[in-house]
This record gives sequence, structure tokens and C-alpha cells, in this order.
Amino acid sequence: MALYWSLPVTEALKADGLRLAELKTSSTPGFTGDKKLAQELLIERGNVLSVLQEKLYANGRSGDKRSVLLVLQGMDTAGKGGIVRHVIGSVDPQGVDHAAFGVPTEEERRHHYLWRIRKQLPRGGQLGVFDRSHYEDVLVVRVHELVPHAEWEPRYDEINQFERELTHEGITLIKVAMFVSLDEQKKRLRQRLERPDKYWKFNPSDIDERAYWPAYQAAYQDMLDRTSTADAPWYVLPADHKWYARLAVTELLIDALEKLKLDWPPANFDVAEQLRRLDKS
Ligand code: ADP
Repeated sequence: MALYWSLPVTEALKADGLRLAELKTSSTPGFTGDKKLAQELLIERGNVLSVLQEKLYANGRSGDKRSVLLVLQGMDTAGKGGIVRHVIGSVDPQGVDHAAFGVPTEEERRHHYLWRIRKQLPRGGQLGVFDRSHYEDVLVVRVHELVPHAEWEPRYDEINQFERELTHEGITLIKVAMFVSLDEQKKRLRQRLERPDKYWKFNPSDIDERAYWPAYQAAYQDMLDRTSTADAPWYVLPADHKWYARLAVTELLIDALEKLKLDWPPANFDVAEQLRRLDKS
């Protein structure tokens, strides 16, 4: 278990049986330190993550088909972008497959909702990151009734089946649902309106979406209850404290990568012979 954690992060954040209505979004489950320590640890553990990711990449280059996919879900301002920048930002970008899923394009709408997802799955050796995902098709789509109930309802089972296939193909899924309080969201939206360097993140419709908070809570709860599986469990991340959220995701990634038991791939050439050739060259 990582230092300064009273529980393994996978235990501290597991979704099983969790009631979102009772989630304290300012809590820091399992972590025994404070903000300052978390910020120091983020650098230290980011270095550990970086070495593990390089091993994943190196093995991928040697034909290993395994990959890791971080799925980030959360309401506007939950901090998904910060995770990408501060956690994924600590690893080598050439080993990262990042994909963000916004409102589907015309072309995407003509296909099954998993079509655009399949196209972005990480290749062997890559660390994939989904900023939003196929889960939008049981979240925003359900909340705004973009398709009828009869159409989104079967998607939970379909997604479980889809993710089972992915894990069997060697993709380790880490699904993280981030939650801030309604008050914290207001604070973050206000900041976007008060700082010119944040205007670009603001979308007037984010304010309209706040009226749908209860409907989103219900949709998120069902998502957690129905799609947290042994193959691909959900982790519920209280995200009012960015320093906690970033450290916790770093630990989740380290845990997943360590479970792959990666070694540096052996040389596929005779090292001594190559050294001799180099000396003579
Ligand atoms: P962000 O708001 O995360 O910066 P974008 O503005 O590009 O990113 O797109 C996000 C928006 O796209 C969100 O409002 C989200 O609900 C919406 N979205 C994502 N997937 C779907 C989908 N399948 N159907 C409808 N809307 C979607």
C-alpha cells in the first residue's frame, strides 16, 4: 500500500454499495496527509507512474498487446481536465492515447453509440484516457431524453458486455467518476467568469445543466450500480479537493500498472556483440 494511505486506494474509492446522496465530496478517503503533503507526493508518485508507463510502452513496442484505459466521467467543472494535465501530464506523451467525447457529430450519430468509442481504444502498450466516454449515452442522453427509455435502458448490459470483451483483449479499465458539490461547482463556474484566463472553459449551458443536478445524480447512481463489474469496477472520487483527486488517480494508475507485473523487455540482440561492434565503429 502507498505511504500515507490507511487503505489501498482501490478499497477507499470502490463504488460497491455507495449512495451518492451520502457522498461527502470534500472528503479524502484513505489519505492520511494534508494538501501540502499531497502536492509533494503527486510529484514523487508521478515519477513512479512515469517509469511504469514507460515499461508499458516499451513492452508494447516489443509486441505486448496489453494496454490501460482510464475512463473519466464527471459533471462540468469536476476536474477531468486537471487530471489529464496534472496526472497524465507526468508521463511520456508518445505513450498516451487521449480522446475526448463531446456532442456526437453528424457522422457519429449515424452509427451505433459504441462506434466512436471503439475507434479510440488504446493500442498495445498505450495508456488511453477517455475524457467522457460511452457512459454519456446513459447520462446526458438519459437526463435529456435524447433517445427513448427503451433505447438507453439496454445499454447498461451492452456496456458490461463490451467492457468484458475489452478486458479479455488485454485492456485494463480504470473507471473514475468524479463528484464535486453543487456549491463547489458554483464556485468553479464563478471563477471561470471572473478570470479572463478561464473564460475559454465557460459554456453558458453549464449553468442550465445545474437545474438537472438531481436527474444526473440518479443517472450516475444507476450507472455505478449497474456497470461496476469485477472486470471493470467504478471508483467514486470525491473531487472538491483537486490535490486529493489528482493524487488518488495517480495511485489508481500505479496500482493498475503494477498489477501487470511489467519488466523491461529483454534485448532481442546480443548485447556483448553490439558493444564490440560499437567500440570498433
Ligand atoms: P467539455 O464540456 O467537457 O469541455 P465539450 O464541450 O467538447 O467538452 O463537450 C462536452 C459535452 O458533450 C457535454 O455537455 C456532454 O454531455 C456532451 N456529450 C458527450 N457525449 C454525448 C452524447 N453521446 N450525446 C449527447 N451529448 C454528449
